[in-house]
This record gives sequence, structure tokens and C-alpha cells, in this order.
Amino acid sequence: MSHKNCVFCDIITGKIHAEKVAETPQLIVIKDTNPKAPTHLLIMPKKHIVTMADVANRDKDLAFAMFAIVEELAKNLDAPQAFNIISNNGAEAGQSVLHMHWHFISGKNIYLGDFKL
Ligand code: 5GP
Ligand code: ZN
Repeated sequence: MSHKNCVFCDIITGKIHAEKVAETPQLIVIKDTNPKAPTHLLIMPKKHIVTMADVANRDKDLAFAMFAIVEELAKNLDAPQAFNIISNNGAEAGQSVLHMHWHFISGKNIYLGDFKL
């Protein structure tokens, strides 16, 4: 189910290296190469899904896994439970990699300063 010309599919198949911090049967979590905060991770399905609007009923295991991994990641933060989840969906909304992902951001209050994903 890997999609050609998708950098995240290439990371999932191992064609491109990324710093992986967690993996489940449904998803992987990697460090963002251009971090905007002390902790900036990307949570993404292994399956090529373009946006959150393409998550269907058959993907309910994935939807649960996304929430479960957030709980795991939140446990390991310096400031427990203080994090942002951001998802850009569609190029017009700022999505640059068209493989659905959640930005998991922590260690910085993004509402102070000129934060921009
Ligand atoms: P978007 O703009 O689609 O919401 O977020 C895409 C994110 O993927 C950006 O924060 C960008 O820094 C990150 N990114 C793009 N290419 C790579 C890559 O090859 N490896 C990793 N680890 N992150 C990437
Ligand atoms: Zn993909």
C-alpha cells in the first residue's frame, strides 16, 4: 500500500532514513527533520492515507492506535500532559507532505511568539 513519490511511504518502507521513536502495527512515530519545538514528532499511519478526511470506518483500529500512542508519548514528556497535536489537511491548509500525519509538539508554548509549521 506504499505510494510512489511519497516521502513518508519511503520512510515507512525504510527506503529513506528517519529517526523512529515508536512503532505499532498501524503506525510509526518519527522525529521531524525540521523541529519547531524541543519535542516535534510526526505520528503517521503506515497505510498511505492523504488527509484525515480520508480515514474511513475500516480504519478504526488506526484511529484508536493514533490516540493510544499520544497517551504513550505524553507520559514521557518533561512537562507531563503539555503538548499540541496539529494536523494540516490539504495543500491549501499548509500540508506539505500528502500522507496524513499529526504533529506532536511539546516543550514550547506555540501561542507565544511567531510559531509557524
Ligand atoms: P506538513 O507541512 O505536511 O504539515 O508537515 C510535514 C512535516 O514533515 C514538516 O514539518 C517537515 O519538516 C517534515 N518532513 C518533511 N520531509 C521529511 C523527512 O524526510 N523526514 C522527516 N523526519 N521529516 C520530514
Ligand atoms: Zn504515503
